[in-house]
Amino acid sequence: MDRQKTVLIVEDEKNIVDILRFNLQREGYQTLEAYDGEDGLNKARSEKPDLILLDVMLPRMNGFEVCRALRQAGDNVPVIILTAREEETDKVLGLEIGADDYITKPFSMRELIARVGANIRRTAMTAPAATAAASTMQVSGNLSINTDSHQVFRDGKAIDLTQREYELLTFLASHPNKVYSRVDLMEQVWNYGYVGDDVRTVDVTVRRLREKIEVNPASPVYILTRRGAGYYFAV
Ligand code: CA
Repeated sequence: MDRQKTVLIVEDEKNIVDILRFNLQREGYQTLEAYDGEDGLNKARSEKPDLILLDVMLPRMNGFEVCRALRQAGDNVPVIILTAREEETDKVLGLEIGADDYITKPFSMRELIARVGANIRRTAMTAPAATAAASTMQVSGNLSINTDSHQVFRDGKAIDLTQREYELLTFLASHPNKVYSRVDLMEQVWNYGYVGDDVRTVDVTVRRLREKIEVNPASPVYILTRRGAGYYFAV
């Protein structure tokens, strides 16, 4: 049974909320709204939405603070940051504090809906094996992935990853030693049929992933860079 997915909109501009609500509901999503960061964080915690659209400039708590608070509490709900145009630092900062994606204002509704769909938790899609035995993938040395629970372990200790980080790791680890360009990864992991400057998203996500899974992120042993070509999972 496909439960109706819920999107939490955290945005202080009423007209933007109205447009988002209208279009998301038309696409079959349930929507929740918060007009300041504090209320957004409370609703994220109490309502457990499937995805959050998070504005940056908000009263009470800004979008970065909301995202950071969620991640620090171990909440890996997909988060798409809504940034103002040309605020390049916002995009990178958003990804570094654990957002899954960002979209720049003014955005086309078609693009936004596509990104919501691409980022929302796709539990059915990422469960390749039904048996308990097959659900744990010993990917390399002391690193393992449980594809049922979506947990990653290093030396038996669970590592907290966002959904996107998990998907990137699982994808690369499923194709060991194969080099993927950033454009490839955008298409395969982010499910975007188009790319622009957004390939930087891949770099930031790889960096965050390394900080979490590598013993020494500065000299990684799992996810390696093939200069000029892309990234690969080394075994
Ligand atoms: Ca705002």
